[in-house]
Order: sequence, then C-alpha cells, then structure tokens
Amino acid sequence: MDRKALDDEADHFDVEDDALSWFRGTTNFRLRIDREGIVRGGTLNVGEVLGCDLTALLGRKLTNLVHPEDLPAAREAWIRITTTAEETAPIRARLALSAGGWRWFEVTSWNMLAVPRHGVVIGEFRDVQAQVDAEEDQASTAQAHQRLMKIFDEIEDLVMVGRLDHGLTYLNHAAQLVVRDPNIGTQPESQLASELRSFALRVIEPTIRRLERWTGDLEIHVDGKPRIMATTITPVAEGGPDDIYYGVIMHDVTADRSHTRSMAQQARRDPLTGLPNRLALMEHLDACRTSGSPTATVSVFFIDLDNLKIVNDGLGHSAGDRLLRAVGTQLVAQTAALVARFGGDEFVVVHEGLTAAESAAAAEELLDAVRRVQVLGIANHISASIGVAGYQRSELDPERVIRDADAAMYVAKRGGRDRVAVFDRTMRAVVSRRFFLESALRDGLAEEALAIHLQPIFALNEGDVLSGFEALARWPVASPSEFIPIAEDSGLIVPLGRWAVDQALGALAQLVAISPELAELRMGVNVSAHQLLERGFIDMILGTLDHHGVLAANLVLELTESVLIDPRDDVDLVLMGLADAGVSLALDDFGSGYSSLGYLRRYPIDVLKLDTSYTQALLHDPGTRIIAEGIVTMANRLGLRVVAEGIETAEQLEVVRELGIDWAQGFLLGRPAPIAEIVAGLAVDACLAD
Ligand code: C2E
Ligand code: MG
Ligand code: MG
Repeated sequence: MDRKALDDEADHFDVEDDALSWFRGTTNFRLRIDREGIVRGGTLNVGEVLGCDLTALLGRKLTNLVHPEDLPAAREAWIRITTTAEETAPIRARLALSAGGWRWFEVTSWNMLAVPRHGVVIGEFRDVQAQVDAEEDQASTAQAHQRLMKIFDEIEDLVMVGRLDHGLTYLNHAAQLVVRDPNIGTQPESQLASELRSFALRVIEPTIRRLERWTGDLEIHVDGKPRIMATTITPVAEGGPDDIYYGVIMHDVTADRSHTRSMAQQARRDPLTGLPNRLALMEHLDACRTSGSPTATVSVFFIDLDNLKIVNDGLGHSAGDRLLRAVGTQLVAQTAALVARFGGDEFVVVHEGLTAAESAAAAEELLDAVRRVQVLGIANHISASIGVAGYQRSELDPERVIRDADAAMYVAKRGGRDRVAVFDRTMRAVVSRRFFLESALRDGLAEEALAIHLQPIFALNEGDVLSGFEALARWPVASPSEFIPIAEDSGLIVPLGRWAVDQALGALAQLVAISPELAELRMGVNVSAHQLLERGFIDMILGTLDHHGVLAANLVLELTESVLIDPRDDVDLVLMGLADAGVSLALDDFGSGYSSLGYLRRYPIDVLKLDTSYTQALLHDPGTRIIAEGIVTMANRLGLRVVAEGIETAEQLEVVRELGIDWAQGFLLGRPAPIAEIVAGLAVDACLAD
C-alpha cells in the first residue's frame, strides 16, 4: 500500500464509517492509534474479527487487547514505530477475543503521526492464527523426529533411510559405524559390501520400485568379518513413482543363523555313519528334479545289508554299528555319487545321467564294494541286496523312485540275497504281497492258523526202517519257502520257531507213547539263525524237551549253512551248549550254497542233509556223483551221518543207496503229513505189529 492510498483511506477513518467495505469478510482489519496508544478509529470488520464493536474499542488503549506475554515485544515495537518515520518490520502478537481466548495477528504499522490530517499510527492486523498453528505443528514434528533419531542411535540395529536414485539420506549411529563412509547422498548399493551390489540391483531395487517391502538375509562385512543381517526394506512413495524413499532395518542374526544352520545340518546327517540321512536324501532327490538336463536319468540304488540283523542279534549293537560305519565308508570310497543312510541297514546311492547299462554296472560295483567290507572279529562275508530304479529327471518323483528301488531290492533279497534286481512294474505286486503276507502271518500265528506236518526219514542201511521225521511248518495262505523268509525278516520267526519246536516235540511225545519201539525216533526241527542267536534259545529248547518228556537225543535241530559260514564265537557257544545238552545238530540244504566243509570241523554237527537239488542231480551229472562220494567218505570220517533229501524216484533212491548214504527223505518215501494223520497211521501199525 502506498502513501497515497493511505491518505485517501485516512479520510474515511476520520468519519469512522464502514465505507471501507473491502475489509469486510476478511479476518484482517486496521486500527488508527494515537500517540498515547489509544484507538481512535478503524475498519468496521474489527468487530467481526475480535467479536466486539469498533465503537467499544474507541478510546481504549490498544495494550489492553494484547496478550501479556506479547506486551514487552509490542511495547518495544511501539517505541520503534513512533520514533521513526521509516516503515518497521511487522511484529506478531495475540489479541484478546471478546468471547474469550486469543488470536495471533501480524501487525504492520505506519507512523503517520507527523502527517497532517492523520496524526496517528495506522496498524494493519493480519490474522495469522492458521499459520502459527501449522508452524507449531511442524516444530513438534521436528521434535518427535529428533527424539526418534536419538532412539535409533541407541539401538544396535542398523537403520537407514534412502531415496531411490539419490542414495542414503539418513543413517543411525550403528549404520554409520558399519557403513563407515558417512557419504550420505551416494547410491545405497555402493555403500553395501561388494557381494551385495548385484543382488541389490537385481532383486532389492526392483522390489522397492514396485513399492513392495523386501525382507531377507543379507551378508555384509563388519570389520572384515561376514555377518548375516536380517533385513527389511520398506518403500514409501512420497510424490510420484520416481520419488521413492525407503527405510532399511538390519538386525544381526549371525549367531542365530549359524545355530539354526548347524541344527539344520545335524537334522540332515546320520549320526552313526556321518552320511546324509533320509531327509537329506529326499531333499537331494527333490533338487534333482529341477537341476540339469530334464531328459537325463536319475538312478537310485537301494542297498540293504543281508546280514546285519544276525550281527546285531549275535554280537550286539556296537558290532552292528561298526559294520554299518564300515559299509558307509566303503560305499563312499566306491562312488562319487550321493550316498545316504536310509535307515537301519539300508543305504541309498543316487546317480545322475547313467545309461541303463552303466547303471547295471554301477550296481554290481556297489555289490562288490559291500562284499569287500571287512570288520575285524565280526564278519568276513558281508553282502547286500540291491534294487535299482531310474526315472527321467522330468518325471522324477522322489517318494516313488525310492519305493520302486526298495521293491526291486526286496526282489533281489527273495532271489537269494547278494544280488542286484532292476525295478520293473511287476515288482510292485511282489512287494504289496509281501506286506500282505507279513500282516496275515502275524494274525495267523496269533490265531493258530499254522500247522506242523511231519515228513518221515528212513534209515537205508538198516532195511529202510523209519528213523524219524522232519517237522515242517504249513500255512494255508503261502508256502514255507515264501513265508519263512518273511518271518525271518520281520522277526516273526522267533515265536513261530518256538511254536514249531513245541508242536514237533509234542507230536514226538504222542508217538513215543504209542509204542516203546518208537522211542528211538528222532525229530528234526528247522531253526533259523535269528532264533539261534536269540537270548535264552538253549533254555527254550531244554524247557520244551522237559515239558514234553522228550530226551535231548531225540531232537535234531536243522541249521542252514549261512549260520555257520562265518566262524563266530557266539554261534560256537550256542551250538556247543546244545551239543553238550545232547541235542543233535544237522546241517541242512548242504550243496545248495557255499558247500564249504571247513566249518564242519569247527562245529559239533552230527548230520549232513544233502539238498534236494543235489540229490536230483546225482542221477544225471557224473561230476555231482563223484563229489557226493567224496562228501560221504569225508562225512563218515568225521563221524557225520548223511541224509539225502528230495528222493522222488526209485532210481534216485538206488543211487543214494549205492553211495552208502545213511538216511533218505522224499516224496517217494513219504510226503509231509499232518501230525494227527501220522500219529493215527503209526498207531495202526503198532496194533498190527502186536
Ligand atoms: P528244508 O528244511 O530243506 O525242508 C525240506 C523241504 O523239502 C520241504 O519243503 C519239503 O516239503 C521238501 N521236500 C521233501 N521231500 C521232497 C521231494 O521229494 N521233492 C521235493 N521237491 N521237495 C521235497 P517245505 O516244507 O516247502 O519247506 C521249505 C523250507 O522252509 C524248509 O526247507 C525249511 O528250510 C523251511 N521251513 C519249513 N518249516 C520251517 C520251520 O518250522 N522253521 C524254519 N525255520 N524253517 C522252516
Ligand atoms: Mg530242514
Ligand atoms: Mg533241506
């Protein structure tokens, strides 16, 4: 406003009317104040602003309206204004509202005291309440900020704020120590460890640009040492998409993570062998699905030891543990592929990219590797059954490939152990039947669904008289050659064997009761290795003999060669104990397996049973016959009696007789029959003889 306009205006003030309507409706007003500070006139809208009529103000001292706190400044300003004609800087002061309370005004004054017609100071009062409020707000926000930053400086976490494309704008104390370069304003990634740079550009920055929060672990170096920082980066779009701020919070989790990592490693390692365990194996297979050529084959070798249970049962678990460790070491030495311990005595090897022929060769090599395992004082003949299954990477289902390899392994085991079987679809049926049979057998044993049949054995050189029986287990559901191995694998052989001995000796007691002549009969009962090494086996045998009133000399326990193949002290002890008690021991199925005669000298064996296949080969194969002659001669020299099993024809019987074999057993002479039938038949014979 220039002086001319003020002059014009002054006219109106003189008459103190409201013609100056342009102040109406605004919160600004003017007052005319005389040298004594008394209000002499003003714009009428002062009433609207302060809530009292202008006329009420006229003649009053302006200082009466001013807030006491603002009075000193107002007085000072008044002196300045009234002593100079120059324009003075505006001041701020609160004026009282007639309704109560105060309002902030910015006052600009012009000294017109010396001007004729005026003789007053003109003050223009501009309402600045809103502005003051905003300024106060801002000040308190700044204070809050200040406080927050103080807190951030106290904490150990790294707190940073940055602006995309501009770099960091704030680092708390901890962040400054780590970043070391308080070079605020440069690109954020240049301040992170170099290994972070590409990751920040590739992953973090795009995430922030999408205004998405990023969380993850970052490895940075603090004092040259790697630290794992759990990091959260939160973007905030201030203006447009180009004006993005982000907050970074990093929390040092190095100790936590290394603990978690070692826990995770432990969870994936078999403590006994140090090999990856089942969990690690499944994760490896899962990873196999996606890494590498999708057409490459992933081959799984399921390796099950054939003799661990016997070692465990016989020599205790520490011996079994030593054996498992030795096998693990040998397998790892054999192959560069993943070797995992799957469970008990099972190992799994995973090969990638083998052809069918290569995988067959690899399986044979693994088989050989197991055979080479030697553990001093435990076993010389370790073997395994290996199942192989392979799938194209793109079709690999970890659970299924393991199941298939396991099925193939089972087939290898049933095929006679110490061999390899490659999976084909028919094997699934074999395996499901196995599981069916195991549970059916368990029920069958409980429900006494099994029976013992007796097959007669005749003494050839004494005029073909009945010399005894072999007790053979029968079950309507499956043949012994199918269910006995299942009973052995599942441990059911122990109760089954106990039951068989009881049945057989009970039958013998019945027979002896018929006629004193039958008191000489010997009862053969088959015994598995697992039973032999079961604690209390000797006591069980002696107890059962006692229970049925049968003499030990009438019992023959038939053992298969595999029990004796390794010279073992624990087997020695059991066999010696039995022999000392007067029980006879027969070596069953001789000629079907290793046929090494060395151990015959070591163990107290009384009887050698030539296997059916051997007996039947005698007729057609001159070589077999020569060997048989040798066996019989040697057996006689060792004081062993020989039984020829599986005599089906008169010719076979003739050859056996010619060879000087003591006893014969076979369908020709008598099929296995139920105990009751045998007892009844012999009772009739005894009657007739009387
Ligand atoms: P093993 O001890 O060698 O029993 C002789 C097997 O030869 C019996 O088979 C018998 O039925 C069969 N056999 C007898 N005469 C002839 C013949 O003239 N020709 C032919 N081809 N075979 C003949 P089975 O009963 O099927 O038993 C098979 C095997 O199962 C037995 O072989 C034995 O190792 C085992 N086993 C049977 N019962 C028991 C048992 O109670 N406990 C145990 N641990 N094993 C048993
Ligand atoms: Mg037998
Ligand atoms: Mg036999």
